[in-house]
Amino acid sequence: MSLTNEQYDSIMREYDAIRNRNARATTEKQKMIYNKFPELKAWENRAVTLKVQKVKQIMEGAPQSSIDNLEDEATMLLVNRMSLLESNGLSPEDLEPIYDCKDCHDTGYIYDSYGNREKCHCFREREINILYNQSGIRQLLKRENFSKLTYKYHEGEDLNRLKGAVDVCRDFVDNFDKEYKNLVLNGTVGTGKSFLSCCIASELLESYHSVIYLSAISLFEILAKKQFSGDYSDKGEETENLYECDLLIIDDLGTELSNSFVASSLFGLINERDLRRKSTIISTNLGLPEIRERYADRVLSRLTGNYIFLKLTGKDLRTLVK
Ligand SMILES: [Zn+2]
Repeated sequence: MSLTNEQYDSIMREYDAIRNRNARATTEKQKMIYNKFPELKAWENRAVTLKVQKVKQIMEGAPQSSIDNLEDEATMLLVNRMSLLESNGLSPEDLEPIYDCKDCHDTGYIYDSYGNREKCHCFREREINILYNQSGIRQLLKRENFSKLTYKYHEGEDLNRLKGAVDVCRDFVDNFDKEYKNLVLNGTVGTGKSFLSCCIASELLESYHSVIYLSAISLFEILAKKQFSGDYSDKGEETENLYECDLLIIDDLGTELSNSFVASSLFGLINERDLRRKSTIISTNLGLPEIRERYADRVLSRLTGNYIFLKLTGKDLRTLVK
């Protein structure tokens, strides 16, 4: 399943509205600055005149000294402009157009070095929000991120484990673009494994990465719907995003129904993401023997071979915090 025409149109209408809003804000801001410092406009007009004169003089073969004079005046105008703006707490950027997304200028599309048009990260994020119903996750990330992290509910070995896991998670975020890594966050209910995956998701979304956060139940529902719908009409954009997003977080693996479809599609997914060097985080309270039993040896060997296992222990934080 990919975006329906209606969903696509609604994203494009959103971009229209953003561009209109920013165009108005840009005009207002420029008007305010030019009204306050009318000399700026006069200098800009003069700079345009100087450019025209310079071209004219070059074409007419005027003496170099005359052309140099024009250039000196143009430089002087730039210096004056800069110092006037700076002495009033402004910068040249304050006169530039305003954009929500500086990469695509709020069009939703960018061009690669070959001139091919592709979706901007901000479009991908909107698409993912719609396709995977991620708006709830956004709310969750406001509550659960590194700034909300506390060690006050842990002690002893539990505390050491948590601190060690936090270090690995921070390192995962810091080196995300340099090192390909995967994590398994393992622990019983309420030990903080989902919290840590939220911390990572939050940081990576801030730095414009595409992140899909799904409970294991929702993930296998999506995969089953695709598999059993008999609809092969589209290229499978919904599943394509699962293979291609920068980070896939599978929350609470083991809470879904256990069957051979689940086992084989989990293998297919983590195997494909591994081939594409796309990171995955799995949180689960299953131990290794249970993972082998539910998903078979090949899943277990992929996980033990390519994932860093972090074990979290302690009391159920959810009841403690309440
Ligand atoms: Zn963009």
